[in-house]
Amino acid sequence: MPKIPHRLYLTEDQMPRQWYNLRADMKEQPDPMLNPQTLKPVTEQDLYPIFCEELAHQELDETNRYIDIPEEILEEYMIYRPSPLIRAYNLEKSLDTPAKIYYKFEGNNTSGSHKLNSAIAQAYYAKKQGIKRLTTETGAGQWGTALAEACSYFGLELDVFQVKCSYEQKPFRRAIMEVFDANVTPSPSMTTEAGRKILAENPDTTGSLGCAISEAVEKALTTESCRYVLGSVLNQVLLHQSIIGLESKTAMEILGEYPDIVIGCAGGGSNLGGLIAPFMQDKLTGKANPKILAVEPASCPSLTRGKYAYDFCDTGKVTPLARMYTLGAGFIPAANHAGGLRYHGMSPILSKLYHDGYMQAISVQQTDVFDAAVYFAQKETILPAPESAHAIRAAIDEAIKCREAGEAKTILFGLTGTGYFDMTAYSSHRAKTMQNYIPTDEELEKGFKSLPKIKGIQK
Ligand SMILES: *Cc1c(COP(=O)(O)O)cnc(C)c1O
Repeated sequence: MPKIPHRLYLTEDQMPRQWYNLRADMKEQPDPMLNPQTLKPVTEQDLYPIFCEELAHQELDETNRYIDIPEEILEEYMIYRPSPLIRAYNLEKSLDTPAKIYYKFEGNNTSGSHKLNSAIAQAYYAKKQGIKRLTTETGAGQWGTALAEACSYFGLELDVFQVKCSYEQKPFRRAIMEVFDANVTPSPSMTTEAGRKILAENPDTTGSLGCAISEAVEKALTTESCRYVLGSVLNQVLLHQSIIGLESKTAMEILGEYPDIVIGCAGGGSNLGGLIAPFMQDKLTGKANPKILAVEPASCPSLTRGKYAYDFCDTGKVTPLARMYTLGAGFIPAANHAGGLRYHGMSPILSKLYHDGYMQAISVQQTDVFDAAVYFAQKETILPAPESAHAIRAAIDEAIKCREAGEAKTILFGLTGTGYFDMTAYSSHRAKTMQNYIPTDEELEKGFKSLPKIKGIQK
């Protein structure tokens, strides 16, 4: 057997030319998104004021299995893709595990994350429709950066509402977005009705993704030639992120490998949905049966402790209603929770797959995540994003189980990005001042109270 290389990059000819739409192979579809006014399933036309037309189409497309990636998008993908599939030899050795550990590394672009894969697609379709301006929210900052890169590439104006606590904690994130000419506003802000309302009720709020989304959507609806874009949760985003899984699967085929376990961190579900897409296809069509594992923070546990219910995607309750695992749009995670993965809900596609038993989920606490991040950095030389380190934690734990059971499983996990802007958190971990925060049932109850009551559908 030839030795498996440390890093495998596909050649440009081997790269996927189509995205894969997981919904085409799902036995049952996620429940339809509802129009918040009529409470009827949304139509493409309902979405046109918020999303550009092609993206509204992709959002509701349950049938087209493969969708061509336009040439202009491929050209920009080629600047930073393919991303490498890496065999974590050193990590395996130091864990003394018979398991084979692979990771797909998406941090090799300026956003430091996988988010650029969808940012490029969303900016491209807006440009093609003649839209001049986009708005969005960003939490940790990777999405805002990715979209700023994409908007600058395609010549679009961009307004980013950045969750206030992260705007204050990470000034260099904002500086990078400004390099790409984005306008960045801390959220909640006084520039929108939604922001003013949230501030009137709660003047000291550190903000949340849900608030920032309300502001960005309002700005899009009230500004000429402007649309809103979102970096996770949506079906279209999972579609664009399928490039991660498709590249991974091809690379593993070249190596003669197939994962027994596929692991990803889960915030809104986009990297996980993208990474697992072709493996989930095998599962849905009976070709293979890998274990699929979502890893979320114990401080924001939508899959493991949330309710599978219709909810708003934002705090201001202006977006369509989606049925998903959610902590309630009113849920605000603890400010001491360091990196990303702070969203109250979860992709409706992943929620449905989880609900139907096709995947598993666990939650992990912050100090254990950073222990894994530091261990990984020292063995594999990449400083992981805290979000990605949730997946690392689970991969290490699975590899240790393999050692104890003497089983040589093949593990694949998504290393979604790098953590250069999270050094405050790394330092507090090192100084042992980092705290774990696990909401009590009573605290979660408050978020659940914010779930909408929908006549005939939800009490
Ligand atoms: C945004 C982000 C995540 C989480 O978002 P998902 O939509 O759940 O993938 C994970 N890792 C990094 C580096 C991110 O930037």
